[in-house]
Amino acid sequence: MATWSMTAPVIWGIKGVMASVRRKNFGGNLLLQPASSYTPASEEEVLRILDGHSGERLRAVGGLHSWSEAPVADGVLLDLRRLNHVEMQQDAEGPVAVVGAGCRIKRLLEELDRQGGSTLPSLGLITQQTIAGAISTGTHGSGRNSMSHYVEGVRVARYDPATGKAIIEELNAGDGLRAARCSLGSLGIILTVRIRCRTQYDVEERFSEHRILADVLDAEASFPLQQFFLVPWRWSYVVQHRREGTGSRSRLAWLYRIYWLLVLDVGLHLLVLFFLRVMRSRRLIRLVFRRVVSLFVIRGWTVTDRSSSMLVMRHDLFRHIEIELFVRRPRLDDALHFAKEVLEVAGGVRSELSTDNQRRLGELGMQDDLAGLRGRYCHHYPICVRRVLPDDTLISMASGAGEDWYALSFISYGKPKDREGFFLFADFMARSMARLFEARPHWGKVCPLDAGELASLYPRFSDFRALCHRFDPDGVFRNRWTASLLDTETRDAASNRVEDA
Ligand SMILES: Cc1cc2nc3c(=O)[nH]c(=O)nc-3n(C[C@H](O)[C@H](O)[C@H](O)COP(=O)(O)OP(=O)(O)OC[C@H]3O[C@@H](n4cnc5c(N)ncnc54)[C@H](O)[C@@H]3O)c2cc1C
Repeated sequence: MATWSMTAPVIWGIKGVMASVRRKNFGGNLLLQPASSYTPASEEEVLRILDGHSGERLRAVGGLHSWSEAPVADGVLLDLRRLNHVEMQQDAEGPVAVVGAGCRIKRLLEELDRQGGSTLPSLGLITQQTIAGAISTGTHGSGRNSMSHYVEGVRVARYDPATGKAIIEELNAGDGLRAARCSLGSLGIILTVRIRCRTQYDVEERFSEHRILADVLDAEASFPLQQFFLVPWRWSYVVQHRREGTGSRSRLAWLYRIYWLLVLDVGLHLLVLFFLRVMRSRRLIRLVFRRVVSLFVIRGWTVTDRSSSMLVMRHDLFRHIEIELFVRRPRLDDALHFAKEVLEVAGGVRSELSTDNQRRLGELGMQDDLAGLRGRYCHHYPICVRRVLPDDTLISMASGAGEDWYALSFISYGKPKDREGFFLFADFMARSMARLFEARPHWGKVCPLDAGELASLYPRFSDFRALCHRFDPDGVFRNRWTASLLDTETRDAASNRVEDA
């Protein structure tokens, strides 16, 4: 039976577990106050809920690990955590999994391994997201396409415009599939995801530190899965060289895991929190990053272990907030220089950008915005840079053929009440980098651009809009944020190119 409540708090009916109707996201920046909430256990229950709420706004949520307004549900909230089955299949191209929308990635990985020695081809840094939530915002790792790209079919519940009744539709080809691969929850309620898998593999990893970006990028030929960190205030690159392992797993892999957990996942974060929240000293934060942080990294220790252990970390242990901006490879160097200069101005260690960047900012008419940022935000976390291969989707951040994308992430561990400086910085970076480098903000992270700015970054945005309107003409699966993106009509040349959905 689906559980249902019109008043808070609600009993969610999961073996006696109670949850309040009011829910906060991981980052603590969103409060969800839906009018009613359900945790359906079957597709039939989802259809019944839709039929019972016809004409109202509905929204599915996953693990609430987004910072953007994507999961905000103010009408009817559906939490599909009980639709979490995993069924392995085998076809000519290899293993493929049919997964219930609410299945967490962690459980999915365990099931894939247990049922057939398989795994996902691409993973984000954590495994707390649900499969539907992860693909709906284009979740990605490094060195591969985002997870969305590997989706081969989606079952979606929506309304039949002719009868007004809830129906289930399968999207497994054409632009319908491309839209469903990253849909911001706006096509309907995703019930199952069919995703291409691969046989289990190992990853070999070692750290090194470099001063020059070209050296880091050159190493990609040998380490295609690598990611790197620009260390603020030291301005060096700490590189996690990674590739598929060909030898056996390291005997000391267990020790490496303990090192990661205690030293990096916990120790490094406690150090940052201490200087940020207890000492509250920008000078000391800068000193720590210049002199201490890189000492946490053991260089030259090569370790090989299972991919699902090596590619993730416990980044979810401490609450934080993040903006991530995607630029094409030819713009990476320029974008990182720009980011460094802006961080120095925001941190109060320089008053202006370099002459070139100052001129470019002048052309955008954004000098006053930079002046407003001066001295307002001291960045305090390594800037993670990950390569994402172009996705075959309509609007995931890496969508569109061409050069690889690089995602630059800026994370703040400031308390929720102390985030004003971060939001100023995030807003400035998103707007300036969109115009200077055509940088696309992650859909699931802080995403401060308006509909026009976002649409201009995606050649196929109007196609996505058209499909959303075809699937959901009354906009019942939109929340306020996605309605602001999707209900604005911007006609362009691409708008009639929607293939069969
Ligand atoms: C600590 C941390 C680390 C992260 N690391 C990474 C990373 O390495 N790479 C990366 O790219 N991102 C990362 N993210 C972002 C995260 O992967 C995305 O925001 C993802 O969308 C969250 O999934 P979720 O299950 O929590 O979904 P939610 O945040 O609950 O929802 C996301 C979207 O999915 C929609 N949705 C959910 N379920 C359904 C459904 N059944 N039907 C239709 N729509 C649905 C929601 O409506 C919403 O629009 C990280 C986030 C955190 C907090």
